[in-house]
Amino acid sequence: MIIRAQPRARYAVIGNPIAHSRSPGIHAAFAAQTGEAIEYGTMLAPLDGFAASVERFMTEGGAGLNVTLPFKEQACAWVRQRGGAISPRALAAGAVNTLRFDTGEVLGDNTDGAGLVRDLQERHGVELPGARVLLLGAGGAARGAAQALLGCGVVGLLVANRTPARARQLVAELADQRASAIAWSELSGVTAQLVLQATSAALTGGALQLPAAVFAGRPFCYDMTYAPRSTAFLDQARQAGCHRGADGLGMLVEQAAESFLVWRGVRPQTEPVYRSLRAQLDAA
Ligand code: NAP
Repeated sequence: MIIRAQPRARYAVIGNPIAHSRSPGIHAAFAAQTGEAIEYGTMLAPLDGFAASVERFMTEGGAGLNVTLPFKEQACAWVRQRGGAISPRALAAGAVNTLRFDTGEVLGDNTDGAGLVRDLQERHGVELPGARVLLLGAGGAARGAAQALLGCGVVGLLVANRTPARARQLVAELADQRASAIAWSELSGVTAQLVLQATSAALTGGALQLPAAVFAGRPFCYDMTYAPRSTAFLDQARQAGCHRGADGLGMLVEQAAESFLVWRGVRPQTEPVYRSLRAQLDAA
């Protein structure tokens, strides 16, 4: 009897930069845990070459992609141009972080918001219904977060961004009276139960300039970026007296699990993968 090896479905994460990505390790762990036959790599796309890189991957038989910065909004536009389907949560976010090609049509989805909410509520015990949230940033990740948080019953969502027009545009698109845009200069007047750092300032080397008053009410402080042991934002929060907080490593694992579910129809267990990644990162 000839036993043929099952061909592995090909996935990757596309972004710029991309070398830092932990997604290949996470998806390898999910594949080992679930027995799904997949391979998952990284793809560096030129800043002006997102669509061409995706088209090439598809033509070569790729089954799906994760999309990371700075391409999530472009990915949404690309799915539209191609006449593909966009999930309601990606449509609401105006950003796509998960592409699927193996069903005969292009599908664009966004798992960032679901991953964030799962990490906040289930891993860190944050009470979202009734909370007032300050969201720092208005890029692709913030867009995914905003609509998921509104869906969880937060009572206020204040969005501040370096480029204020982008915060105003996000709020206009959310079309929800609980959401409002505020200027960076107004941050010292804000009280929130949850402060979410969703900018890429750490990746581009710039430090966020935040008034200490942002931390005055001792909010839970969440940094969507992650680093060994702590991040500049979490250090700043701690120095201002906020001892409840977390970085985005849990969100990374949870949004990956949600993408894996979209692609493979199986939800992997995240806690062992999170723990192993946490130990690796903190030992670095
Ligand atoms: P993006 O679409 O490129 O948006 C970048 C955002 O950061 C924009 O709001 C931008 O403001 C702001 N920004 C960049 N440099 C800044 C600086 N020096 N000072 C103040 N604001 C600055 O990126 P993204 O996809 O939203 O990702 C944002 C961050 O979230 C990244 O660090 C990414 O790694 C992280 N993330 C984590 C997860 C996770 O699973 N943990 C998932 C998604 C994203 P302007 O509009 O003014 O340019």
